[in-house]
Amino acid sequence: MNCSKCNAEIPEGEEQVYLHRIVCEDCYVRETEPPKACDVPRERSIN
Ligand SMILES: [Zn+2]
Repeated sequence: MNCSKCNAEIPEGEEQVYLHRIVCEDCYVRETEPPKACDVPRERSIN
């Protein structure tokens, strides 16, 4: 089974289905994870 996005070979059992297409875990995570904003202030400690 090959990824329909990057065409990489997917180990058995690690196929992910995204929009009815078989994708590898990397592509799946890339598609489902929201893009990380670099400029979001994190845990600003006031005081
Ligand atoms: Zn892929």
